[in-house]
Amino acid sequence: MLKLDAVHVSYGAIQAIRGVSIQVTQGEVVSIIGANGAGKSTLLKAIVGLEPVAAGDVVFNGESVSGQAAHLRVKLGLALSPEGRRVFPDQTVRENLVMGAYACGLKPPQLAERLEREFQRFVRLRERQNQLAGTLSGGEQQMLAIARALMSDPKLLLLDEPSLGLAPLIIADIFRIIRALRDSGLTILLVEQMANQALAVSDRAYVLETGRITVEGSGKELASNPSVKAAYLGTH
Ligand code: ATP
Repeated sequence: MLKLDAVHVSYGAIQAIRGVSIQVTQGEVVSIIGANGAGKSTLLKAIVGLEPVAAGDVVFNGESVSGQAAHLRVKLGLALSPEGRRVFPDQTVRENLVMGAYACGLKPPQLAERLEREFQRFVRLRERQNQLAGTLSGGEQQMLAIARALMSDPKLLLLDEPSLGLAPLIIADIFRIIRALRDSGLTILLVEQMANQALAVSDRAYVLETGRITVEGSGKELASNPSVKAAYLGTH
């Protein structure tokens, strides 16, 4: 479904991504783990069109999307739930969700159907649909960011550090949601610092170190790889 071929991304003189090649097959959950500043967020932004690709190619369902604007990539089926949630704080929960489907140009009945689907999935968001998003708890904002991405009915959902800054019980909820989305057949590319939990839900994973992929394998392989354990799993 997704193929990155020797992708480079730079911020001026800083080469944040240096020749990354990865693949995601339909129905898979694939994780990218790595330390702070490794380039994980930059990679996701390049896939959805929020940062330009300096060299290499991003191919989605057989089509090169490297030159396409972000809103067109949403229409093709790529949706990002960004790091730090980035909900629109002065808009209501409902308005945030409607924004998630904006690029799709839906008619009112289709939009109502999608809203209903997300309210069924995230009951708390239905209860709080008229509340300003900025007044939600961190966990609720994370649910909203995921639901907003799902409003465009993506083929590939990209999740950037969904556990960041949340309490352990809420993190467990977030991973339950990721498992449920996986079980419904959705393809997911997950960036996480909670490497243990990410590997446990992943079919495959990559380790990103200073802009390069250094290790790849199944979730199980990486979870038992000694160097991955020492660097990212807090065990030896
Ligand atoms: P974190 O988990 O801390 O968000 P990350 O793995 O997602 O880390 P990125 O945010 O992608 O890493 O950053 C990769 C590198 O690019 C870092 O050296 C960072 O300082 C740099 N970088 C990121 N965004 C910008 C920007 N807008 N301008 C300049 N440099 C940037």
